[in-house]
Amino acid sequence: MMTDIAANIAAVNERIDAAARRAGRDPATVQLVAVSKRVEAERLVEAVAAGQRLFGENYLQEAEAKIARLRELLSDGESGPGPRAAGRSEIRWHFIGHLQSNKARAATGGFAMVETVDRLKLATALDRHASAAGRVLPVLVQVNVGGEARKAGVAPEAAPDLLRAMAELPALRVMGLMTMPPMAADPEQSRPHFARLRELAEECSRLGLLGVDEPPLLSMGMSADFEVAVEEGANLVRVGTSIFGPR
Ligand SMILES: *Cc1c(COP(=O)(O)O)cnc(C)c1O
Repeated sequence: MMTDIAANIAAVNERIDAAARRAGRDPATVQLVAVSKRVEAERLVEAVAAGQRLFGENYLQEAEAKIARLRELLSDGESGPGPRAAGRSEIRWHFIGHLQSNKARAATGGFAMVETVDRLKLATALDRHASAAGRVLPVLVQVNVGGEARKAGVAPEAAPDLLRAMAELPALRVMGLMTMPPMAADPEQSRPHFARLRELAEECSRLGLLGVDEPPLLSMGMSADFEVAVEEGANLVRVGTSIFGPR
C-alpha cells in the first residue's frame, strides 16, 4: 500500500513534470528538495522508500540530530547491502534556513549545499570552515527579489558585487541563486519574482560571475507556487507541506 508521503511525492513529481513540459523544458533538469523541517526521521524513511533522496532543512540542531537518526533507522533490520543501505548512502541534505556566521562550521559538515548565503561575512566563514575540512562547498546566493525589509537575501542590485567577492573564496562553489518571494494568495503573484531571479542569473552569467562551468541553478518555488517556478526556470523546488502535510 502506498503511504501518504509516497503518494504525495509521486503527485508533486507529476506536477513538476507537467509544468516543465508546458514550458518546453526537460523535466530531468528540475530536482525536488523535500523540505523536512519539523518532520521526524521516522517519517523520512517513508520518503526514502518512495525514492526521495534530496532533503532540505532549516535548523542546524534539528538537522544534525535528524541526519544521524535517519542514518540509524536506515541501517536497522537486515544488515548488509539492500535498498535501505543504498538509500542511506545516496541521501543528500541542503541547508535552506537562516545561518549565522558563527554557526557556519556545522553547516559545512553534513550538507551537500547551503542555499542561503546572502552576505560576505557568512560566505567567508563558510569558506574558511570548508577549507579546513578539506572540501569545496556548493552554495547558492539567496536574493530578496521582493525587496522585503524583514526578509533574508541580498538585494538584486547588490548580487553582482557579492558574487564578485565570493569568486575569491576557493572553498566555495557558487552554483546559482535562490529566492523566496513575498507570501501571496495567488501563485501567479510569484511569477514576476521568479522571472526576476532568472533574469538576474542570466545577467550575472553574462558578467562571468555565474555559470562559468555549467548553467546556473535556480532554487525557487514552494508548495504554493512550485509549478509557476518551474515554468519560469526553477532547477530546484523546495516543497514541504505538499509532501509531509501542514507543520
Ligand atoms: C519551509 C520552507 C519551504 C517549504 O515550504 P512549504 O510551503 O511547506 O512547501 C521552502 N523553502 C524554505 C526556505 C522554507 O523555509
